Amino acid sequence: VTVEPAARKASDGRAAGAVEDLGNYIDGSFRQPRNGRFLDDLNPATGEVIARLPDSDAADVAAAVEAAQRAFPGFAATTAQERSRLLLDVARGIEERAEHLAMLEARDTGKPLALARRLDIPRAIANFRFFAGAALHAASECHPTDSAALNYTLRRPLGVVALISPWNLPIYLLTWKVAPALATGNTCVAKPSELTPLTAGALAEICHDAGVPPGVFNLVHGLGPRAGAALTVHPDVRAISFTGGTATGAAIMGAAGPLFKKVSLELGGKNPNVLFDDADLETALDVSVQSAFMNQGQICLSGSRVFAERRIYDQVVEGLVARATRLKIGDPLDPATEFGSLISRDHAAKVSGYLTLAGAEGGKIECGGARPSGLASHLAGGAFLDPAVVTGLAPASRVMQEEIFGPVVTVTPFADEEEAIALANGTRFGLSATVWTNDLRRAHRVAARLEAGTVWVNTWLLRDLRVPFGGTKMSGIGREGGRDSLEFFTEPQNICIKL
Ligand code: NDP
Repeated sequence: VTVEPAARKASDGRAAGAVEDLGNYIDGSFRQPRNGRFLDDLNPATGEVIARLPDSDAADVAAAVEAAQRAFPGFAATTAQERSRLLLDVARGIEERAEHLAMLEARDTGKPLALARRLDIPRAIANFRFFAGAALHAASECHPTDSAALNYTLRRPLGVVALISPWNLPIYLLTWKVAPALATGNTCVAKPSELTPLTAGALAEICHDAGVPPGVFNLVHGLGPRAGAALTVHPDVRAISFTGGTATGAAIMGAAGPLFKKVSLELGGKNPNVLFDDADLETALDVSVQSAFMNQGQICLSGSRVFAERRIYDQVVEGLVARATRLKIGDPLDPATEFGSLISRDHAAKVSGYLTLAGAEGGKIECGGARPSGLASHLAGGAFLDPAVVTGLAPASRVMQEEIFGPVVTVTPFADEEEAIALANGTRFGLSATVWTNDLRRAHRVAARLEAGTVWVNTWLLRDLRVPFGGTKMSGIGREGGRDSLEFFTEPQNICIKL
């Protein structure tokens, strides 16, 4: 089935030049929300409305789940070869439209176009290619019970799965869920953040063009508490893969618990970045400034708490300030820009509020926190904030305990390894950690004692898609990636044959 481009949007026929209306993608076609209501989608760097998206509710969710339910038996019966081929075709579709998608992502999120080109879009392609391969290589277990019986494990797709993703890495994180869900033969309903709907809409078009059968991939736009919440409690949704904030994760867990849905929660972080005095300091600082401020500090894996061994503490503060103030801030669409706009003015105000709090808690703002000077006039309504380095805070202060999810990094000295580990582990979160040292034994010793799902040694954000990814403590439940994703999206069934 091919759909004419004009029919792909749920346009209500408004005049040319009006912003585009996105549609939900349900059962292989783009549709208006049943209630006829739309929300504005803003470019956070300029404040302009760039699209309208469906303000979907339970009726749209029900239609999407029903379509996914209908499509499930047919899709579950496809061969691994067929699903692998389909995922490769989707990957190719993303690759062919890479530049367009990078532009959409930069306009929707305020992130630098250069970052979308380098990180977000290549990762979306890699997600589909990786799980296209995984579909072909999946194996299951066999447990011979001496000579009495043979047990083997069948892994069946679950059925309809809900995929809920946040605004910071929209297509990167959505495809990280869609690809394994489809690789294992499930059908899905995706709900992206209402702040960043554009690349999800483009992904629906790409899936359509790649020949993903109607009902296999469905997309419902809208608000979390309305469309998202309806999806999480729908009785025919068998599993929920959620990436977002810890408070939302708790709400989803509470709603899904009594319904016994399988849940994977990738939540917030307040990640330590520990610099020992034997580290290669220049490299550590170059990477630490990325870890603190890439994507305007809006990455769950951001190293937002730097701990520096006392002998190098002053050098670390100076080095971070020097690098932060050198970042090229400006129009996200300028390919030279390194640091763009935050996701919204509300979010920028929240981050600013934390800097005011830092002052009240006894901290010193070493740099940043103000609106950048010299921005072009078309960026006057944008959500810009200079990257901030803060010192002098107590580890128990709110600024050092709560996830700010913005361009704020704290720096704290430590005396020895024991104190570094205690400080690093001293939050409710446990997503990732970074350690900088050239002492091999210390690297292993410290890494093993850090309460974090991922520990990087002498690097940051170096990802291998096969490894288990996820958090401990308040950073989530479950792991995604490689075999963990394949296991999450399937139900193991033990078959016992008496010999
Ligand atoms: P939110 O938790 O606010 O939202 C995430 C998604 O959930 C959005 O699509 C949102 O919709 C939806 N949602 C909100 N409320 C509900 C609900 N009651 N039921 C179902 N869905 C709902 O997170 P943000 O979008 O603000 O993203 C930032 C957060 O994501 C940070 O805490 C960050 O640490 C975390 N994150 C974690 C990662 C990880 O891998 N651990 C990776 C990236 C980010 P809407 O936007 O429309 O409200």
